[in-house]
Amino acid sequence: RYQSLAYNRVLEIHKQHLSPVLTAYFSEPLLLHQGHMEWLFDYEGNRYLDFFSGIVTVSVGHCHPKVNAVAQKQLGRLWHTSAVFFHPPIHEYAEKLSALLPEPLKVIFLMNSGSEANDLAMLMARAHSNNTDIISFRGAYHGCSPYTLGLTNVGFYKMELPSGMGCQSTMCPDVFCGPWGGSHCRDSPVQTIRKCSCAPDCCQAKDQYIEQFKDTLNTSVAKSIAGFFAEPIQGVNGVVQYPKGFLKEAFELVRERGGVCIADEVQTGFGRLGSHFWGFQTHGVLPDIVTMAKGIGNGFPMAAVVTTPEIAKSLAKRLLHFNTFGGNPMACAVGSSVLEVIKEENLQENSQEVGTYMLLKFAKLRDEFEIVGDVRGKGLMIGIEMVKDKTSRQPLPREEVNQIHQDCKRMGLLIGRGGTFSQTFRIAPSMCITKPEVDFAVEVFRSAVIQHMESQDK
Ligand code: PMP
Repeated sequence: RYQSLAYNRVLEIHKQHLSPVLTAYFSEPLLLHQGHMEWLFDYEGNRYLDFFSGIVTVSVGHCHPKVNAVAQKQLGRLWHTSAVFFHPPIHEYAEKLSALLPEPLKVIFLMNSGSEANDLAMLMARAHSNNTDIISFRGAYHGCSPYTLGLTNVGFYKMELPSGMGCQSTMCPDVFCGPWGGSHCRDSPVQTIRKCSCAPDCCQAKDQYIEQFKDTLNTSVAKSIAGFFAEPIQGVNGVVQYPKGFLKEAFELVRERGGVCIADEVQTGFGRLGSHFWGFQTHGVLPDIVTMAKGIGNGFPMAAVVTTPEIAKSLAKRLLHFNTFGGNPMACAVGSSVLEVIKEENLQENSQEVGTYMLLKFAKLRDEFEIVGDVRGKGLMIGIEMVKDKTSRQPLPREEVNQIHQDCKRMGLLIGRGGTFSQTFRIAPSMCITKPEVDFAVEVFRSAVIQHMESQDK
């Protein structure tokens, strides 16, 4: 045992002194001791393959040696300085990050969390457009701060308290659970079982969902809007992909009404989707504002908002925006080394290759088992939606999903959960994983599903 505190004592302290809202993922909570790249070790020395990377956060591997070395060097040099004094790490980072974004997305605001970044993006959209209303998808998660709670439309995060003035939700174009089925994304090697009957060059489902989007614009928001937030692939909602072409049309409709378009890349950015560095590029769109967090710092608290000089000026005209820790030397040094590691170790290419390999392997399980309803995603962001049966597509009851989840953990595999009924398994490992690790994970998952089915037969 490595831990200084006994397991039961930790549970006691958690109960007495930590937020009661923080619940553990498993009935027997995992008490971690150490991480190394794609592996985690608990206090008893058991090891787990971490296929959720601390909620899609550890982009290049736990305690990556290069990132650790850079952090230690900066730790001995300078931790903090007010933003009114300049220090090179922030400038080096700003140059590196902006080089990865297309024109005119070149102005960077550094923050500490995804919620803070989205708060600022909301403010920017309103300051620039002089409008109020902001639209986001049902099922979207954009943060838990009082401002962003208006954008987050996931039942268990919504409080029965007034929040989100000026925020409107619109139907999520979810082709598996929504009213119209079709391709998740035309370019994916794996398609949903709810096939669209239209010709390859059109998608009726996309058109139907666009009609819903227009309905939101025409009936529930002011004629002029401030902005529209979208994750390129929804994370918390269970890795939901939109029909091809949807975001492009939606962006045009928003801009026609004076709004700006915001891509929330908190989960999808930094090469995770494989084919592109940013998720918005996979939709062929150019947002006006991009927000990022999580993988940006490989787990170090850090976030950013990137926008155009014009939008940045609209904000500057109105206020002095200040953030004590945003862009601190530690975060910037870590952020720079994360970008270097992604490049040096070809992690975007690895996401593409190993992610596609994994998607196809999980798709085979979908064809094998009735309760594996849908397998979707891109690169190293994969969702497996569990259903009672493929005809009804009703969610598999939560206790049954819990059982499969626990069994995976027992066999040394950690995966995430998502979706309105917590019915979808989410897979988003660090981008350094290998094909043999995928083979292990798929076999563990398969065994857990078989064990579950056998237990149901008894
Ligand atoms: N946007 C998305 C897409 C997220 O997944 C999250 C976190 N789950 C956030 C924003 C908020 O980030 P944070 O928890 O760092 O505030």
